[in-house]
Amino acid sequence: MAAPRTITILGSTGSIGTQTLDVIGRRSTEYQVRYLTCNTRVDDLVAQARVFQPYGVAIREESAWRRFQELYPDFAGPVLRGEEGLCEAAADEQNDVVLSAMVGFSGVVPTMAAIRSGHVIGLANKETLVSAGAIMTAAARAHGATLLAVDSEHSAIAQCLVGERFSDVARLIITASGGPFRSLPANEFHAITPERALRHPNWSMGSKITIDSATLMNKGFEVIEARWLFDLPSEKIDVIVHPQSIIHSMVEFVDGSVKAQMGVPSMLVPIQYALTYPVRLPLDVPSMDLAAIGSLTFEAADTERFPCLRLAYEALRTEGSAACILNAANEVAVAAFLAGDLPFTGIAEVIARTLDHMEVVAHPSLDDIVAIDGESRRRAAEYLSN
Ligand code: NDP
Ligand code: MG
Repeated sequence: MAAPRTITILGSTGSIGTQTLDVIGRRSTEYQVRYLTCNTRVDDLVAQARVFQPYGVAIREESAWRRFQELYPDFAGPVLRGEEGLCEAAADEQNDVVLSAMVGFSGVVPTMAAIRSGHVIGLANKETLVSAGAIMTAAARAHGATLLAVDSEHSAIAQCLVGERFSDVARLIITASGGPFRSLPANEFHAITPERALRHPNWSMGSKITIDSATLMNKGFEVIEARWLFDLPSEKIDVIVHPQSIIHSMVEFVDGSVKAQMGVPSMLVPIQYALTYPVRLPLDVPSMDLAAIGSLTFEAADTERFPCLRLAYEALRTEGSAACILNAANEVAVAAFLAGDLPFTGIAEVIARTLDHMEVVAHPSLDDIVAIDGESRRRAAEYLSN
């Protein structure tokens, strides 16, 4: 039997993090947990640590870090703190796979630490590629790190590409569920509450990505993510709304043939594929019953009602730091919407205004990106307070 694979999960207490532990728990002899990490939800981290017995943990927030030691005084391994601690966990040389599942820009620096250590990275944290795609993919090439998509659409594309020549790809077709407001008339968008936006028809996810799915910014981010993971220009990356979420994405080849990857929607599948790549292991998920599903339908994405998708394509075409600004403004706007301080339609407005007023840097360094993220957040917050 092969030696167990050693896994570190950045963001183990989140939606992707807990589902990753679900995958690991089903085949505990095949995996060893190196580090588990969180920001503040330390009670959950303690419960996870008691079950999975990781070598160590890393906690971003200071009081949560202290509380871990009160709750679990006999934890034997290192209890690392802050962003530095997350980076140490990410870079640990024992890691075979680092599952990057923190949310938003907070994942950029720790994910980069994993890349610089040359690890295999299961990448769920798409905002890292949106904000710093050029830098991260260049670093991955330089350090021999492998980026494996956890996002279901990108995992689908990667699976369609197995055995193909990359030069034969004509186009990627990313599917979108359309979110909870797919059929809502434009004149009702002003009344969307956070509670309604948090009810996604097909997926149960963390609150930030659920709002991104409702605005279709998530799909815009996925176009940018695909640009970096598969090194294709924006003209070769299309989005199609497919409400049943059975086709997870498609690849069209130069001879007109199209491959689709399908299955009952479950993040366990792409998570496990990233952990076991290039092989597959059995996974107990519901089998796809097409007769029961009946029909698969498709429609064009409406960028009038969902301007965030258009803004993301524009930022991608602008290149440089534009997508970093897009992401930062979106994080601020989504947080304000969730707090009840901004209407749903205000999210795209805040992002558009921030993009209009920030200068785009053509070839930013990682330090530049961190500074631009901070400045974009300040600008976006200014528009909010006016
Ligand atoms: P969650 O909000 O559920 O979880 C986020 C995780 O990151 C938690 O462990 C959280 O810790 C931790 N975290 C958040 N902020 C910080 C910080 N500043 N420092 C350190 N840790 C932090 O998010 P999801 O699991 O839904 O999403 C994670 C990523 O995966 C996102 O980028 C999302 O876009 C992507 N993704 C998610 C999918 C899904 O089905 N959920 C599908 C495809 C992609 P704590 O619990 O302490 O707050
Ligand atoms: Mg996705």
